[in-house]
Amino acid sequence: MSDEMAQEPRREVKLRIFRGMGNDPSTHRYDTFTVPHQEGMVVLNAIHYIQRHFDPSLSARWNCQAGRCGSCSAEINDVPRLMCKTSVDRFEGEITVEPMSAFPLIRDLATAVSDNWEVGKSIPPFTPKTEGTEPWKIYQQDVERSRELRKCIECFLCQDVCHVVREHKADYIGPRWVVKAASFDMHPMDALNRSDFLKDQAGLGYCNITKCCQEICPEHIIITDDAIIPEKERVVDRHYDPLVWAYRKLRGSK
Ligand code: SF4
Ligand code: SF4
Repeated sequence: MSDEMAQEPRREVKLRIFRGMGNDPSTHRYDTFTVPHQEGMVVLNAIHYIQRHFDPSLSARWNCQAGRCGSCSAEINDVPRLMCKTSVDRFEGEITVEPMSAFPLIRDLATAVSDNWEVGKSIPPFTPKTEGTEPWKIYQQDVERSRELRKCIECFLCQDVCHVVREHKADYIGPRWVVKAASFDMHPMDALNRSDFLKDQAGLGYCNITKCCQEICPEHIIITDDAIIPEKERVVDRHYDPLVWAYRKLRGSK
């Protein structure tokens, strides 16, 4: 992969695009297209050009074209990226566009991501405190942390890049959903502790903090440092701190 800026203004862009149906591996192949270069062109523009001028059957998800909807996720030169935010000028030579490989293929660049929504539903929801809460006071640092964790556009690029999700999907909910749990846990008015859920049901222990998810997040959420590591620390405090363990044993609490 080359992420270097092209030295000379280019006149055309060559794309190698994965094609085929998810239920028929015999259809899987790569088609190559050459499209005219335009100033400010992103990969999604090139896909639209191909659909309009060469092959209307090329399937790809997109919606807002502005990096807000999280629909046009794909692997571009082996890295999960949003097609609408990836300039063709980042690359020299041919650009390879493939569907996200962590999810079942539907057709061409479109994958089935709906299982993610089911995982999301398993997270204990925000549960406001009912006592001693009037008036609500929230410090600016809590507002900023909450705002960061709620910036997620659910593009699932972090789920796609995570090797644990790829290899142990049934065991680990993945970085997007740890971010969601953390957005609840770190809200000062939330009454729940999700450590038991994260340890026993969400498989947080499988994450080995490679930070791959953090590096590719288009919203620049500091996924590992601001969500995953604090949640791991909470699990350790709750389950492995001997003082906390002794206190809970004495109180007979869970
Ligand atoms: S955390 Fe970032 S990479 Fe993951 S789904 Fe949200 S916006 Fe996408
Ligand atoms: S830091 Fe954890 S969640 Fe993120 S990609 Fe690595 S293993 Fe997956």
